[in-house]
Amino acid sequence: MIVNETAISAQELKDAQYFHGHKCPAMPQGLRAGHLAMDILGVERAQGGGELIAIVETGDHHFSGCFADGVMFATGCTVGKGNFVRKPVGKFALTLLNPKTRKAVRVVPRYERMSQCLDMDFFKLRAQGVPPYELDPDVVAPLIEDVLTRPWEEIFSIQTFENYPYEKVPEVFDAVQCHSCKELVVTSYAKQFDGKWYCEPCLDAIIHANTATK
Ligand SMILES: [Zn+2]
Ligand SMILES: [Zn+2]
Repeated sequence: MIVNETAISAQELKDAQYFHGHKCPAMPQGLRAGHLAMDILGVERAQGGGELIAIVETGDHHFSGCFADGVMFATGCTVGKGNFVRKPVGKFALTLLNPKTRKAVRVVPRYERMSQCLDMDFFKLRAQGVPPYELDPDVVAPLIEDVLTRPWEEIFSIQTFENYPYEKVPEVFDAVQCHSCKELVVTSYAKQFDGKWYCEPCLDAIIHANTATK
């Protein structure tokens, strides 16, 4: 597949590192995966919640989870806009979907690449509990350079989809007041009990309290 890949500028890398909080190779790998996916789909960075959906397969508390932040920064798909979907299966893939055309691309870091990473000093030190911001920049910088400049085919493999399953979820614009705590709760999350609206924690407390007195 021939892709006219968007180069990641020094400024974008810097801004993404600021957002992410430290310098590591996994975040730039996500940055590149995000750009590659956008280049293949021929789409722009998401401004709202409806143009693009990113599905990221990293889980919690494992090496290279930073990949997800690079994807967010590159694609504009974020948790807050609701277009960043976590599918935590402990893999390093990004699927980017254009909901209008239903075309999608899955960008997967190659097995050889990822398994080699685990033998690098960076990951050995990280495994020993050294936080990334305390590592010698000379250990980290060549890894970042490598992940940004090596031909993408050596780092990623690509799958494309023509009719990716997608169901649009409309945004809810109404809310009610919880009868118990008096806080505002979005209606689709509120529950009705005895004709009154409650937030989920309050309703849980009421139901459990009732059970306890019986
Ligand atoms: Zn990181
Ligand atoms: Zn409440």
